Amino acid sequence: MMIKTDFPLLATKNISYLDNASTTQKPQQVIDAVVQAYTKYNANPGRGIYQLAEEATQEYEDARKSVAQFINADNAEIIFVRGATEGINYIAHGWARYNLKKGDQILLSQLEHHANLLPWQRVAKETGAELIFIPIFKNGMLDMDAADALMTKRVKLVAITHVSNAIGTPVDVTAITQRAHAVGARVLVDACQSVPHEKVDVKKIGCDFLVFSGHKMLGPTGIGVLYIKKEIQDEVQPLCLGGGSVREVTWHTYTLADAPEKFEAGTPSLAQAIGLRAAVEYLQQHVPFDQLKKHEAGLTAYVIDALEKMPHITLYGPLDVLKKQGHSITFTVDGIHAHDVSAYLDQKNICVRAGHFCAQPLANLLGYDAAVRASFYGYTQLEDVEKLVAALKELA
Ligand code: PMP
Repeated sequence: MMIKTDFPLLATKNISYLDNASTTQKPQQVIDAVVQAYTKYNANPGRGIYQLAEEATQEYEDARKSVAQFINADNAEIIFVRGATEGINYIAHGWARYNLKKGDQILLSQLEHHANLLPWQRVAKETGAELIFIPIFKNGMLDMDAADALMTKRVKLVAITHVSNAIGTPVDVTAITQRAHAVGARVLVDACQSVPHEKVDVKKIGCDFLVFSGHKMLGPTGIGVLYIKKEIQDEVQPLCLGGGSVREVTWHTYTLADAPEKFEAGTPSLAQAIGLRAAVEYLQQHVPFDQLKKHEAGLTAYVIDALEKMPHITLYGPLDVLKKQGHSITFTVDGIHAHDVSAYLDQKNICVRAGHFCAQPLANLLGYDAAVRASFYGYTQLEDVEKLVAALKELA
């Protein structure tokens, strides 16, 4: 299992870091890999014909391979981007603007992060397509009957989260994908909050696009993954054009290289890719996902059970589900603004997130303008959540 001493920041700072849904801490293995990228492999991948450049290319492609295996994709289906936000915008610009027209519908859910909402608002404006939303029940679970009713031939794209970053709701994206494909729609899955915590298999899900961010799964910032299914890669236009993505260029024409190169113009993020590979390997070697889930759900259940007994606290999300498989809990404290709760917890060296978690329409729907979220990972220990519970008890 993940051990705290692998994480230099956690080993040296006396904090309970409970903001893992925002970003995770980095183990020494990932930090070392990034340093090695600059001390051992630094050259421009995919270009030079000398040994060091070839080693850089090999390292970059090995990183792609290890990410591909991690989510059961083929190498050419893995496009390195800056993060999930860029991955979603990539598909908005490179696929949606070319493939949607007036009268088409884009189906989202009411759970979406701004990263999976704003790009579609702009696409809708530009193409005349209409945004529609799968509603949630009061407890935050998706209304699948309503999803069925909305799933008509007018829907050309379903873009949906796998797990809500705001209230932890898991979504059955496999079922959604089957229903979407039955009406001929493409499916994009925002897997930011699932890939770090559970085995995600793109072939099992069957989706067309999937995105996640390296920094939420022990990896460096500045790298994320856009999975584009092989069969539909011809429908997607590269977001950027330039060096490294072409086969032949004249003054007036160009021929694109094959995937994945054609989707990645410009100098690749080598150190970030090498760091991401180290993160994937760390997860594979040290963190069996079934154990991780049990550990995180145990912490979540502990906090929910304790907070449910505190009349000054209101909890959000599908609590029964979170107790079994969650890794975060969101709440408000009566009469105290979430920012003040966060500042108070900070004085006790507890780091939580306060706000609308980049899901403002959802916050409005649930009735808070700001809430507090404590989110866990493999290195979170019982004493961390005990501290949280004790501090919140004092607030009564
Ligand atoms: N979607 C979800 C569900 C997220 O939790 C996040 C990060 N908070 C994003 C998208 C955006 O990820 P990034 O900021 O790494 O691009």
